[in-house]
Amino acid sequence: MDVKALLKEIQKNRQLSQDESSLINRAFSFAQRAHQGQKRKSGEPYFNHSYNTALKIAEWKLDSPTIVASLLHDVAEDTQYGITQIKNEFGEEVAFLVDGVTKVGKLKYRGAEAKAENLRKLIIVLSKDIRVILIKLADRLHNIKTLGALPPQKQKRIALETYDIYAPLAYRLGMNNLAGELEDLAFPYLYPEEYKWIIENVKEKYEERQRYLEKVKIVILKKLEEAGIKPINIDARAKRHSSLYKKLLRQNMNLEQVYDLVALRIIVKTVEDCYATLGIIHQLWPPLPGRIKDYIALPKPNGYKSLHTTVFCLENKPTEFQIRTQEMHDEDESGIAAYWAYSQLKSAKDYLLKQKSVFAEKNELNWVNQLKEWQKGITNPEEFIQSLKTDFFKDRIFAITPKGEVIDLSAGSTSVDFAYAIHTEIGNQCIGAKINGKITPLDYPIQSGDLVEILIQKSKKPSESWLEFVKTNRAKKEIKSALKDSLLRRIKETEFRIVGEDRVGLLKDISSIISKSKINISKIDMLKTAHFPHIKIRCDIKDKEKTERLILKIKNVQGVKEVSCKQI
Ligand code: MN
Repeated sequence: MDVKALLKEIQKNRQLSQDESSLINRAFSFAQRAHQGQKRKSGEPYFNHSYNTALKIAEWKLDSPTIVASLLHDVAEDTQYGITQIKNEFGEEVAFLVDGVTKVGKLKYRGAEAKAENLRKLIIVLSKDIRVILIKLADRLHNIKTLGALPPQKQKRIALETYDIYAPLAYRLGMNNLAGELEDLAFPYLYPEEYKWIIENVKEKYEERQRYLEKVKIVILKKLEEAGIKPINIDARAKRHSSLYKKLLRQNMNLEQVYDLVALRIIVKTVEDCYATLGIIHQLWPPLPGRIKDYIALPKPNGYKSLHTTVFCLENKPTEFQIRTQEMHDEDESGIAAYWAYSQLKSAKDYLLKQKSVFAEKNELNWVNQLKEWQKGITNPEEFIQSLKTDFFKDRIFAITPKGEVIDLSAGSTSVDFAYAIHTEIGNQCIGAKINGKITPLDYPIQSGDLVEILIQKSKKPSESWLEFVKTNRAKKEIKSALKDSLLRRIKETEFRIVGEDRVGLLKDISSIISKSKINISKIDMLKTAHFPHIKIRCDIKDKEKTERLILKIKNVQGVKEVSCKQI
């Protein structure tokens, strides 16, 4: 760990001013001192972790405040120094970033798949700035690389969180390579048996394919040269274990059918060269039908661009090629961070205007596109920084249940909305709420990141006054329907029509049977016709069985000829 190596990594991409390098120097010593004596579970000094996180951030070509914040990212949480101290030493912006990382770090995922997307959104909301998420991703990458030293229980939790939350987040941000790396590092902890199977069965095939592709590479290089195309790089790229596993599951574990086990990746200078290279490959070898993918003209929803094709290559073996420019390659590595990096080379606008609009077939990617759209209209660097603010969820609230599930609500929602979002009965029986451990009025608006616990009482009914403050349609609908139900129940009565002999005491006998059954009589009408009296009795019964039992009893009363009933 040497500050010089970090400075050198940054200087690969840009000049560092005197001020910037002295700031980074200071942050380096500060963090090293703050973590003095602390050890990671692996036994190495804690600061190793901070340093590696910062190194990754520098690799992604982020700005100095982000690099400084990544050196300091665990200081507020794990040392005697607080955010105020960081603010005094390194300024508002750095303190803001460290604070964001600390807040996001408190969120824990315990595997409620349905709510994973909400947790991802909550991470975005709490970060308030894309750079916070990037630090968090760099932090996670180093943590998962050093996961081996932790106890098994913790390994599982962190691996699952990485697989379900952080890898998809990286993917959404266009960091395909990072997403794949995170998944692959988590894979052996989550699927140890499957991992073992793959290692045993694939190792030889991988090596065999590598050797084969070396031969292909020589052929293709020669042809490209003849056509006047100078590739920047050609390399064989093995498919990641985790994605191979997913593919095998779809293809009945048949390794022979995986044509991209190892693919040849060709990086060329221009888009024109990409298409020319594709043409040359197709002249050499016939393509497999349906396997030519033009992700340059039609990028993947997260912005991924490349040409893919599979051809019957040397020895008639199906072989996949991936063709792209350096810029596409960099973006695949660092995704949204690349937008940041390019903004420092040219103006942000120039770069972003060049980007073709991203096709969002999936709703879930809308927020990423929204972010990109925002950045397109930007004319100066300050505005660009503003555009990294992630407040595009400002009309949504993400609150957490005691079990760690994240509930997505509209802004201004209250504990009652939250209760109904969990379950209708929780809403109906709600009598109070604790927000972050404190009893809070039911009409109090929840904030993103709040931990909400609903207190319930069995057979409690919702109150009409709730309708004045609830925000979500679901709560409104459920409250109204519960109120209507109880209203209905109140007027629901049963009317018995009894025809009997005209005898003294008949009515008295019938009403005494009813009251012995502990049923209230609300109305009695007696109509004397020519021979028989007609009696109408209204009772407070909603229950069908009770009604039937009562009919039998009434029929047994002396002089009763006929009993029928009607629900009112
Ligand atoms: Mn950390």
